[in-house]
Amino acid sequence: MARIVIIEDEPDLALGLRDNLEFEKHTVAHALTGQEGVKLATQAPTDLVLLDIMLPDIDGFEVCKRLRAAGLTMPIIILSARSQEIDKVRGLELGADDYVTKPFSLRELLARVRAALRRADPGAAAVGHVTFLVGDRRVDLTRQVVIAPQGETPLGYYESEILRMLYEKVGQAVPRADLLEKIWGVGLGPADRTVDNHIVSLRRKLETDPKNPRHILTAHAVGYKLVL
Ligand code: CA
Repeated sequence: MARIVIIEDEPDLALGLRDNLEFEKHTVAHALTGQEGVKLATQAPTDLVLLDIMLPDIDGFEVCKRLRAAGLTMPIIILSARSQEIDKVRGLELGADDYVTKPFSLRELLARVRAALRRADPGAAAVGHVTFLVGDRRVDLTRQVVIAPQGETPLGYYESEILRMLYEKVGQAVPRADLLEKIWGVGLGPADRTVDNHIVSLRRKLETDPKNPRHILTAHAVGYKLVL
């Protein structure tokens, strides 16, 4: 998961990119202008920027220059309708990492995004390979196991997905309805116990005392939260 800022004034193109990147579990922020883009990319830790050149205010080259001048080192991939060599050279000289000419294939762009993220952070880029400690146990979401001093316990698919969502918002309450919608793709029914039943079983695997959980907590009337 990475935070990606898209700076692109064509709303349809930006929307398509956003959907695809969010599908790959990234967080996406989108700006329609260069100045707004600079703001988005500097106000929160950003892992990658997709940058159009022709923007309504300052152009992409200027955005690139300002981001680098602010000391930011995240990969910047330029998206541009201009294909002249001179533009490529200029973009790369100003600190961009890669250059994709419009119209581009979405698949190719996504591959380049993955490659750029991998180069920037080789550790995190084993995509989906997430492990973390919950108390004295280690959760490995890639292998879908909980590793306890006594041995390993397998996690079911739904348990892993719930844990993944809770971990992405660690310390914050995640609404039950969000879990249902994102994992099961359904809305919350009036007496829906689906999520709660999986939480009971997760607590058995992760908590020392499942009746008095210390890590998978109930957020009253909302949902659940993970505390490490
Ligand atoms: Ca444009």
